[in-house]
Amino acid sequence: MLEQLAEQLKKVKDEAERLLAESKTIEAIRQAESRLMGKQGPLGSLLGQIGKLPAEVRGAAGKEINQAKARITELFAAAKTALEQAADKQASAEQTFDPTLPGPVVPRGSVHPVTAVQWEVEEIMARIGFVVVGGPELETDYYNFEALNIPAMHPARDMQDTFWLTNGWLLRTHTSPCQVRAMLRLGPPLSIIAPGRVFRYETEDASHANTFHQLEGLMIDRHISIANLIAVMKLILTEIFHRDIKVRLRPGYFPFVEPGFELDMQCGICGGSGCPTCKRSGWIEILPCGMVHPNVLRSGNIDPHEYTGFAFGLGLTRLAMMKYGVADIRGLNSGDLRAIIRPEQRSGAAIIDKD
Ligand SMILES: [Zn+2]
Repeated sequence: MLEQLAEQLKKVKDEAERLLAESKTIEAIRQAESRLMGKQGPLGSLLGQIGKLPAEVRGAAGKEINQAKARITELFAAAKTALEQAADKQASAEQTFDPTLPGPVVPRGSVHPVTAVQWEVEEIMARIGFVVVGGPELETDYYNFEALNIPAMHPARDMQDTFWLTNGWLLRTHTSPCQVRAMLRLGPPLSIIAPGRVFRYETEDASHANTFHQLEGLMIDRHISIANLIAVMKLILTEIFHRDIKVRLRPGYFPFVEPGFELDMQCGICGGSGCPTCKRSGWIEILPCGMVHPNVLRSGNIDPHEYTGFAFGLGLTRLAMMKYGVADIRGLNSGDLRAIIRPEQRSGAAIIDKD
């Protein structure tokens, strides 16, 4: 009985060796193994018979069969390991390292187009003696309206759709509150700019957003006239666009200036032929400006008989759109990199930004 078994096990071992010699892949080894060990396979069927053997030989036969199984399992494991090691060796031989190749391009952050334009204007204005001041985004009715010659019930309040807080405060609708704050803090003469975020309760479209950036400018001294205003406006736009910009001045009504103007520049997206951004007019409203209203000077404790001044509110967001060719204002607040990465940074080359 046991002799017969020994013969069967030898056959199984020979079969295993034959199969291993034939198997060239790990998958083939796995298949051969399961063919041997499976219930129908030569070793599997022997394992299945142990329980049916006469009791006197069962122990010895079971031991023989299990030892044979362990040996065969080892053989297969060794063959698999050998194949795996060979594959690893080949893979590492194929992988060569070329130190002359450029490294992977690591995306790097950069300043937002609006910030870039803001810094640029700050630099230009600093050269002609303007200082940068700030102001709160949460404003009081007084600084946002009242002090700017826009009393309660004044129809001009309808010009600005305001986000009101439940306590009567508001999200500033323009950077103009910084005017009176600066007058009270610094006194005349003064030349300030105040960049910042402003908020309007507006329906969003290609040229309107509920959150955008302005830059307030204010210059007060004795004998300041419209000529000073025009000179400063021209300087800013020429410096920013590095080219001759077509502008036009239209009379405009703003309660805090008298006289007031609307300064438009030719649309940089369509070059003046008309597009959705300029509402097909070819012109983009860049800034309202004018001579500071005497009532506003009085709010700032400045005597309008002694001092005059001009003020302007530069649309930083619109300026950035013009300068960088962003057709839709919503892109600038979206986090969409196609809109907020400046063209000179799209090459993937490292850009050294300010700071
Ligand atoms: Zn246009």
